[in-house]
Amino acid sequence: SEPEDEIEHLNFKVVLLGDGAVGKTSIVSRFTEDDFAKNYKQTIGVDFFIKRLQLTPTTECALSIWDIGGQTIGSKMITKYIYGANAVLFCYDITSYQTFQNLEDWLMLVRRTFQGEPMPFMVLVGNKTDLSHLRTVKLDKHNKFAADNGIHPFFMSAKTGDNVHATMFRIAAHLSGVT
Ligand code: GDP
Repeated sequence: SEPEDEIEHLNFKVVLLGDGAVGKTSIVSRFTEDDFAKNYKQTIGVDFFIKRLQLTPTTECALSIWDIGGQTIGSKMITKYIYGANAVLFCYDITSYQTFQNLEDWLMLVRRTFQGEPMPFMVLVGNKTDLSHLRTVKLDKHNKFAADNGIHPFFMSAKTGDNVHATMFRIAAHLSGVT
């Protein structure tokens, strides 16, 4: 048979949640284009990107990445975007305690959306580690929130690119059952 027949193609939906300006759009563009947009543009509606990753010589994974853009937690459409997600990234800005605190509400929304169904793989993203001198969320708070809620804790900087690809790769590997 053709070698192509032996390659496993997997598809997963990944949704980024969190307050405005925590860096969701920047994370997505860093990961999908390796390009950091320096201008802040409030995205209207939802942007959707597909990123293909070769995880092993025989496993290829396509992540469809949904950026909620400028939508807030109260927006009526939001549960439609969350629905069917295989992974959810709870994103906050390490220099803004409020964006961390508000993740409780984002988590409640996800729990409500998935009630009675298996929860998605959940990831905590503390973004803007390049600004760690301005950090207002202590590491133990980050870790405790993750541990208390079954969330996998990560840090990254969309600006420098630090840990963006590594985190997304870990998520893809987990979803694909590749260890
Ligand atoms: P979103 O509303 O969550 O999608 O956030 P954006 O991606 O639009 O980013 C909001 C602002 O934070 C913009 O001015 C970005 O340039 C900036 N930003 C995003 N990620 C980082 C980061 O890792 N470090 C720093 N210093 N700024 C960032």
